[in-house]
Amino acid sequence: MEKLSNPQKTIEVIKKYEFAFQKKFGQNFLIDARVLDKIIAAAEITKDDCVVEIGPGIGTLTQYLAEAAGEVISVEIDKMLIPILEDTLKEYPNVTVINQDILKVDLEEIVRKHNNGRPVKIVANLPYYITTPIIMSLFEKHVPVTSITVMVQKEVAERMQAGPGTKDYGALSLAVQYYAVPYIAANVPPNCFMPRPKIGSAVIRLTKHEIPPVQVKNENMLFKMIRASFNQRRKTLVNGLNNSPEIPYSKAEIIEALHSAGFSENIRGEALTLEQFAKLTDLLC
Ligand code: SAM
Repeated sequence: MEKLSNPQKTIEVIKKYEFAFQKKFGQNFLIDARVLDKIIAAAEITKDDCVVEIGPGIGTLTQYLAEAAGEVISVEIDKMLIPILEDTLKEYPNVTVINQDILKVDLEEIVRKHNNGRPVKIVANLPYYITTPIIMSLFEKHVPVTSITVMVQKEVAERMQAGPGTKDYGALSLAVQYYAVPYIAANVPPNCFMPRPKIGSAVIRLTKHEIPPVQVKNENMLFKMIRASFNQRRKTLVNGLNNSPEIPYSKAEIIEALHSAGFSENIRGEALTLEQFAKLTDLLC
């Protein structure tokens, strides 16, 4: 069977099933074989891998994953796509399609059942409306993964990879970098998708740390501190933390902790590294 990764074949399948694209599900299907090859290469998929794919659509990326990996589990929310996937993936016995919301499915159970609990690789052309919740829930729920290789909005990929003092640096950069090493593998223009999105995209690989790069007494408080510091980006760190209902410390305590850590009380959150946020959190805790 000819692969789906070109505009003609995609249109043929869409027409055959009278499929109507659902904007609410972020449906922009890949139609460029070179981009699909880049995703597979960035994820370094081998036959030893069990891959979990989020949102297979009509199965374009799934076909590439099935050829490269040992096993593929694809989780798709849109029930209209299930009969299409049964057709387009019928030659790939190593693929299981689950009709579920990725934010509700029990991924740990899937990993236990299909890979004996050993870490899987996550690969996806993500629905952009829930990029951050998907990535953060994979990390926060401690789903056993070695890496997450995903297509996201270019601007989001840049935020994940940004370092202190840059305009893109923020809570997302710190949260992602606490759990993983980000690497932007490719920039992808709108004409590689059907329908075309309005913005540019990028493939980013997040390689999970075996142990976090910083140790903190209270991980939960570290994330509250990070969120509070960037909620009011233009304020000083002291005011950002002091104004946040999530932070239980007084202004005097915050200033004292900043001085003990060797910072000026006028410093802004965007100047601090992950290590410095961890140090400050430990001092306050
Ligand atoms: N993988 C296909 C491709 O590359 O051509 C489709 C990618 S498209 C950007 C995103 C896919 O995610 C769609 O098929 C959409 O229906 C699905 N999706 C959206 N929200 C989802 C959710 N919460 N759980 C699972 N799949 C979802």
